[in-house]
Amino acid sequence: MEISGSAALVTGGASGLGAATAKRLADAGATVFGLDLADSIERAGDSVPAGVTLIAADVSNGDEVKAAVDQIVASGVPLRIVVNCAGVGWAGRILSKHGPHDLELFRKVITINLLGTFNVMRLAADAISKTDVVDESGQRGVVINTASVAAFEGQVGQIAYSASKGGVHGMTIPAARDLAQFGIRVNTIAPGIVDTPMLAGVTPEYRKGLEAGVPFPSRLAQPTEYAQLAQMIVEHDYLNGETIRMDGALRMAP
Ligand code: NAD
Repeated sequence: MEISGSAALVTGGASGLGAATAKRLADAGATVFGLDLADSIERAGDSVPAGVTLIAADVSNGDEVKAAVDQIVASGVPLRIVVNCAGVGWAGRILSKHGPHDLELFRKVITINLLGTFNVMRLAADAISKTDVVDESGQRGVVINTASVAAFEGQVGQIAYSASKGGVHGMTIPAARDLAQFGIRVNTIAPGIVDTPMLAGVTPEYRKGLEAGVPFPSRLAQPTEYAQLAQMIVEHDYLNGETIRMDGALRMAP
């Protein structure tokens, strides 16, 4: 699919994978709108690249995302690309010395990572389905969601995160089949460990352990490598309903 001349909606666009993807799509000629929380947008400050406009919205809020999508549609550039990167990695044990896992924490992780991804997908797909920009093949647009290897092999303390990312992976095939009637492809990227602010809290020793778990290349992935894969998925018209692991064959320590 042609990137140049399209509008792209990238959630989590103020940081990490979303920021790198927003930049890459803008460099490829898209008009990019990054959705993120107001405080993250403020933190991004002047680092926002040319061709990227950040809009404050909580991905789990129907009205806020609808308003953001309406703003994109009003720009007059046809919305054809959606990349869902917004997410949180909050952790918690099922049982700890503080008692059982906090139910509210579990609910919040599911609400942001799973419901938020679905919310953006449904509202953006609605807008894409109404555009009259259609390829010869009938293609109108593409949605990329972000899961994690934690969808398949979660670790201790990742119960809510793994459940949310398993849900994102699980939506891929039904969403691809459901939205096919509108010419919209849906794919998911499941990254291993990417060097983003999400890892800010880890100790150097823990980080070394993570790197050692990557057979090749023996390092963490870079956000630009996620962005490269996202661009490839947008451009590859036959990729649909796939969850693609991008993890260097990662083996997590038990
Ligand atoms: P990050 O913390 O750098 O960026 C996440 C962005 O999402 C932030 O800007 C944050 O403000 C935004 N966000 C959080 N809640 C939001 C909400 N309710 N509404 C709108 N925006 C919200 O993290 P990242 O590493 O770039 O992560 C991006 C995605 O990739 C996440 O879904 C994460 O789970 C997934 N992921 C990351 C890794 C990794 O190792 N970094 C691995 C696998 C999957």
